[in-house]
Amino acid sequence: MPANPPYRRVLLKASGEALMGKQGFGIDVSVADQVAADIAEARALGVEVGLVIGGGNIFRGVAVASAGGDRVTGDHMGMLATVINSLAMRTSLVKIGVDAVVLSAIAMPELCESFSQRKATAYMNAGKVVIFAGGTGNPFFTTDSAAALRAAEIGADALFKGTQVDGVYSADPKNNPDARRYDRITHREVLQKGLAVMDTAAIALARENNIPIIVYSIHEKGGFGAILKGEGRCTIVSD
Ligand code: UDP
Repeated sequence: MPANPPYRRVLLKASGEALMGKQGFGIDVSVADQVAADIAEARALGVEVGLVIGGGNIFRGVAVASAGGDRVTGDHMGMLATVINSLAMRTSLVKIGVDAVVLSAIAMPELCESFSQRKATAYMNAGKVVIFAGGTGNPFFTTDSAAALRAAEIGADALFKGTQVDGVYSADPKNNPDARRYDRITHREVLQKGLAVMDTAAIALARENNIPIIVYSIHEKGGFGAILKGEGRCTIVSD
């Protein structure tokens, strides 16, 4: 590890889709276990980790809206999906001896504690991995925005966005062989070029709070730890 590790406290955002692996729906426990192992490695490096997990592997609010239903109810269902994923991630972490706690934006005291910024910070100071469930707690938002918001609230040095590919590309590298990969790019350029990094609200919030976004492949075992050691492959979004 470098003498001055660049990141003391980070917020990791993983999409719900990442958790479903090749199944097409729900949670592939082996994927949750791999993400947990990567977080354990970060903790072993002394880095404090917060986690926001999406819900797209189970439910997205737009599905209700596009079927003619009520978007707000759909989004409530999506936020509940993130709670299911968060409980799965806590299970995978605790199983390997990593102390983890779920704090939900929507009160459900029988299942987990409710979010407050002070509680989250206290738990992180004590070395626990804090999993932020329920997104922002509001409909019409995404877990990307929740990740940027929680990163700002806990004073994270960086927001890690674990994706299907190893960084930010000029076009989708799966469909376009000419897609160029960026090593570094600014928040402003991401917004101007409309690059698919995170949603616009999340990028804007990260930019306003001077939080760099590190985009890397969540499927690269050990990739998270490697970047924390200053070695891994990623794109750094920073002004
Ligand atoms: N959601 C919401 N408010 C939030 C975060 C999430 O309403 O602050 C709902 C929304 O319906 C969204 C779903 O939860 O579609 C799952 O979150 P997201 O789509 O961000 O998950 P991901 O794509 O990361 O798996």
